[in-house]
Amino acid sequence: MTDRSNPVVMVVDDDPAVRLLCEQSLGPAGFNVLCFPDGVSALEALSALQPDIILLDVEMPGTDGFSVCQEIRARKSTTDIPIVMVTGNDDTEPINRAYDLGATDFIRKPIAWAVLPHRVRYLLRANAAFADLRRAEQKTRALLKTIPDMILSIDSKGVIQELVGGDMRYSDGCENHVGQPLESFFPPAVAKTVREYMHVALAKGGVHVCEHVLADNKRYCETRLIARDENNVLAIVRDITDRKESAAKIHRLAYYDNLTGLPNRQQFLRDLRLAIAIGRREETSIALLFIDLDRFKRINDTLGHSVGDMLLKSVAKRLENCVRNSDYVARLDTQDLPNVQLSRVGGDEFVILMTNIKYEEETSVVAKRIVDALAAPFNFKDHQFVVTPSVGIAMFPGDGDNVEDLLMNADIAMYRAKSAGRNMYRFYSDTMRTRSLERLDLEGDLRKAIANGEFCLHYQPKVEIATWSIVGVEALLRWNHAERGWVSPGEFIPIAEDTGLIEQVGEWVIREACSQLRKWQDSDLDKLSIAVNVSSKQIGSGDFLHTVLNLVEKAAVRPQLLELEITESLLMTDVQETVAALVSLREAGFRLSVDDFGTGYSSLAYLKQFPLNALKIDRSFVQGLHQNADGATICTAILAMAKELGLKVIAEGVEFEEQLEFLRKHRCDEIQGFLFSKPLPADELEEFVRRHESVDVVVTL
Ligand code: C2E
Ligand code: MG
Ligand code: MG
Repeated sequence: MTDRSNPVVMVVDDDPAVRLLCEQSLGPAGFNVLCFPDGVSALEALSALQPDIILLDVEMPGTDGFSVCQEIRARKSTTDIPIVMVTGNDDTEPINRAYDLGATDFIRKPIAWAVLPHRVRYLLRANAAFADLRRAEQKTRALLKTIPDMILSIDSKGVIQELVGGDMRYSDGCENHVGQPLESFFPPAVAKTVREYMHVALAKGGVHVCEHVLADNKRYCETRLIARDENNVLAIVRDITDRKESAAKIHRLAYYDNLTGLPNRQQFLRDLRLAIAIGRREETSIALLFIDLDRFKRINDTLGHSVGDMLLKSVAKRLENCVRNSDYVARLDTQDLPNVQLSRVGGDEFVILMTNIKYEEETSVVAKRIVDALAAPFNFKDHQFVVTPSVGIAMFPGDGDNVEDLLMNADIAMYRAKSAGRNMYRFYSDTMRTRSLERLDLEGDLRKAIANGEFCLHYQPKVEIATWSIVGVEALLRWNHAERGWVSPGEFIPIAEDTGLIEQVGEWVIREACSQLRKWQDSDLDKLSIAVNVSSKQIGSGDFLHTVLNLVEKAAVRPQLLELEITESLLMTDVQETVAALVSLREAGFRLSVDDFGTGYSSLAYLKQFPLNALKIDRSFVQGLHQNADGATICTAILAMAKELGLKVIAEGVEFEEQLEFLRKHRCDEIQGFLFSKPLPADELEEFVRRHESVDVVVTL
């Protein structure tokens, strides 16, 4: 065993005197000296001994010092042991050769024995420090390999001095770039920026960052340039593709609608703010087209959200076609077209933002396109839908010079388009705002209308075509507003429905109808039945059956005299519940008819499950009867369908003889309309009925 408490010095020399003197000078100085007379024996013992330092004679018989040095360096276990070459030669050539082969130092013969121990001790210490450094560097390099960044050391001329880098994924054959100008590594356009930043970093210090794509255009990189000293810059190249992609994804999620891929409300608001700022600066006009899909909720409720979603996607596609710049407005200066951007800002709400508008007509062209684009039906599975839009338009700066005003006024205009009959566009005007403020007032007044006794019922007779006798009346609500006079139900019923007041209002109507029935029961008009309109909100809320039963009982009238007109849309929602509610109403004796029939999506098979007595053909189809083939086709189809289901058919809104003739020919049961009579107050109605019944009418069948 070698004594390792002292540093082990291996001496390899063929001269026994040198070996002896080495022992004598180094031994007492605290070294453990082991001598070998030739290279072969030294190499044999080397691995086992693991000396701390080797003094190696260059000129030896057999294997010379160079070969031994080379062999020691070649062995992994000894490659780091310091080797001091001992030479008697004055030439520099062997010294250079020794260094090339990995020698650590050399000593010239004759050896200065007195200083040898110091020299050896110093070399050992330097080597230890050097080994520490090397280990630290190895560690650092190993560490650098584990990080994905690539680090280039670049001199002040832009030549790459060194290149260390993680998984080397940025470029193939990285080593080839060492000694080359940085243009060999970065794509040309990027290299230019890197060079510029490099000079700034060298001149002013600091960290300078540029983002770029690499040549394949697929990976995004970020290069940071930091000056190490006045002649050297570090370029740290980092792959930021993932970061970029997730940032883009987050942006997409935050600012784009998932379903249609269109910008969402947030993005739209940003665009609008920017557009207003530019509009102000450049004094150009902006238009906001607020699009709401008419009765879309009904489709969603009836056919489910997946159909609703599909429909929204298709609507978005058609709208996108409407806003394509290239083909919508022919301007003389075609270079300078308005800019058009479509966004989806709510469930069934879209907005088109038009900037750089020169003529107001440009806006109407787009609005008209929207209405036209949605006119053709959409086909899904077995369903066909027509989804009509109501479009409200507000212009900057005329209708508002800020986001809030423009949005509010476009919204008001949209509501006007809706109440004017839907499927159209309206430009905002100041009178609209007055009207929408009026609506707010109406809401408050409506709450007080019952207590103030401002409601009354008018009655419109229904006449049986075959016998020309009045078989019943429809009760239509009238509101005599204290200041405004008569307010149309078309105006206040939707408000009552929106505010929930419809329950109270509806109850008042039924109570009033019952008390009227009571009066007629005690007179000669005891055959007259009354039909009341029931909002789907009424049936849907609370115990409607209980309420009506209570009311007829209190008035002591038979339920058979009260007909309930429900809307087609009620049949579309919560089918199971609706069937159950209607069945119990029928069982209690009430008659049920479907009002405004034909405007919904009911099919024969669908209607079968409901316990109905009659269908009322919507006025719009009757109107078309003598004007176009469509109205006639629909009426004929409804009549045929009703016959199959054993339902009575009542045609609403009959105004002309030609309509009556058509209906008579196609065996419609009853008619109601201005041709026969307008809705009348109770006393006038009574007089009308009595006069009518006293006249003998000859009916030609
Ligand atoms: P509706 O139930 O379809 O009532 C028929 C409407 O058509 C009535 O309008 C009636 O005056 C009108 N009309 C009747 N014949 C003709 C005609 O020949 N030509 C034209 N152009 N119109 C005719 P009104 O009274 O303005 O009522 C509008 C709607 O308001 C009603 O439509 C109904 O949906 C609703 N409504 C009326 N009263 C009530 C009520 O007490 N409760 C509920 N929930 N809704 C009601
Ligand atoms: Mg009705
Ligand atoms: Mg109707």
